[in-house]
Amino acid sequence: MKQFKAESKRLLELMINSIYTNKEIFLRELISNASDAIDKLYYRSLTDKSIKVNKKDLCIKLEIDKENRLLKVSDTGIGMTKDELENNLGMIAKSGSLQFKEENKNKKDVNIIGQFGVGFYSSFMVSDKVEVISKKYGEEKAYKWTSKGIEGYTITESDKEDYGTTIILTIKEDSDDYNYSEFLDSYNIESLVKKYSDYIRYPIKMNVTRRELKKGSDNEYEDVTKEETLNSMIPLWRKDKKKIKKEEYNSFYQNKFYDYQEPLKVIHTSVEGMCSYKSILFIPSHAPYDYYSKEYEKGLALYSNGVLIMDKCSDLLPDYFSFVKGVVDSDDLSLNISREILQQDRQLKIIASNIEKKIKSELESMLLNDRKIYEKFFKEFGLQLKIGVYNNYGMNKDKLKDLLLFYSSKEKKLVTLKEYVSNMKDENIYYACGETIDKIDLLPQVEIFKDKDYDILYLTEYVDEFVLKTLMEYEGKKFVNVCENNLDLDTEEEKESLNKLNE
Ligand code: ADP
Repeated sequence: MKQFKAESKRLLELMINSIYTNKEIFLRELISNASDAIDKLYYRSLTDKSIKVNKKDLCIKLEIDKENRLLKVSDTGIGMTKDELENNLGMIAKSGSLQFKEENKNKKDVNIIGQFGVGFYSSFMVSDKVEVISKKYGEEKAYKWTSKGIEGYTITESDKEDYGTTIILTIKEDSDDYNYSEFLDSYNIESLVKKYSDYIRYPIKMNVTRRELKKGSDNEYEDVTKEETLNSMIPLWRKDKKKIKKEEYNSFYQNKFYDYQEPLKVIHTSVEGMCSYKSILFIPSHAPYDYYSKEYEKGLALYSNGVLIMDKCSDLLPDYFSFVKGVVDSDDLSLNISREILQQDRQLKIIASNIEKKIKSELESMLLNDRKIYEKFFKEFGLQLKIGVYNNYGMNKDKLKDLLLFYSSKEKKLVTLKEYVSNMKDENIYYACGETIDKIDLLPQVEIFKDKDYDILYLTEYVDEFVLKTLMEYEGKKFVNVCENNLDLDTEEEKESLNKLNE
């Protein structure tokens, strides 16, 4: 038996002992993995003529064996070699995961599980034993990975006729805390598929028993078992906006982008014309753990006619809106396009520029009509907008300046520069820097200005002053730091008293 890598072991422990109430998400994770595996194979077949797949065969199958407490999830995807089983399932591939755990040591495990998107490992929340039988496309041999949890896992040769992967879960016995048998109930599984995986683009099939009228009879019923496709397969972004419920957007977002919280804002657009596309953009309600680090990769998932081309197309988002998550689907893009060509693609540039405008106008209207929500947004991502102002020598400052908020001494809340200017007394926009609002409030220079009824912007973030220096002016008004010595105060007396205070 092989040991799990230390990092995976800890995560596994967390899963097995988890009090996480949303145990049901394991199914969504397995189905998403299966769908990804089929995507990989299908996409390869489009560019590599030696790979022949029949579109009809691309599917995911669910099977329940109540007697033996088994739940099986099979796919006709690309499959895994022995090495891949070892590397993909024996350890966590994601970078930054350890760091994340260190940072979140003291938080509840709910958050760790939700935000991290542990995928495959979530099976251990509901299973005593997990088996993965896989055969890579084009390979002769199949292998079986087996684990009962913490002790480790084994990999042995196995029999499997077709390529793809089958995951067999041995569902836990019911306990006082949880009725695990619900995962052996076909109606419940069906509703979980509908809830979490309805838009998966491949059919998710399962034998379902339904009561039907007996043939030739008009009052006698019988149980008929048939294989049914459980999901509608229409990607959410292709559905009619008016018919989509808020929960659908939320669950799509949480599922696809591994967030345990609902998004702050959903922007669903359908553009027809020179360049047609559909997109759903999400503004998260909180910054991901690695957002302000190098680890964070911006980008939108890019589809061409429903087929995933790229998971994170970074060219679709400017850096200052890098917090936006979402999908873009355009029929006007070629499938065989490489990353390098894509960068120069004219259609893509048009889409990117439209998306940028859309995000900006949505934020502006949020600021105008939904101030509380905007402030919540700004608390999480305002720093990114500020960085956007001074990056690239202030190239984008004019686009972003009206999205900024600063604390006003007079209003005692966050205000925009426009609001400041419309209420100002003098020719200058005054500001003061400090660690916290309270500390700035106590600065002697600030007190003097406040006494004269001037409004002062309190800058508490290290980037704030750079931002104002980059902007240089707003509507012709200069920014002036009240703590700088060479200020013109009205009287000698005041200067003297200030000097005293400073001493
Ligand atoms: P994630 O899907 O977030 O990368 P998982 O722990 O769910 O993380 O899966 C780890 C890796 O194992 C996947 O990235 C994929 O390479 C592989 N994998 C998981 N399930 C399958 C499957 N059904 N078919 C092929 N590969 C799979």
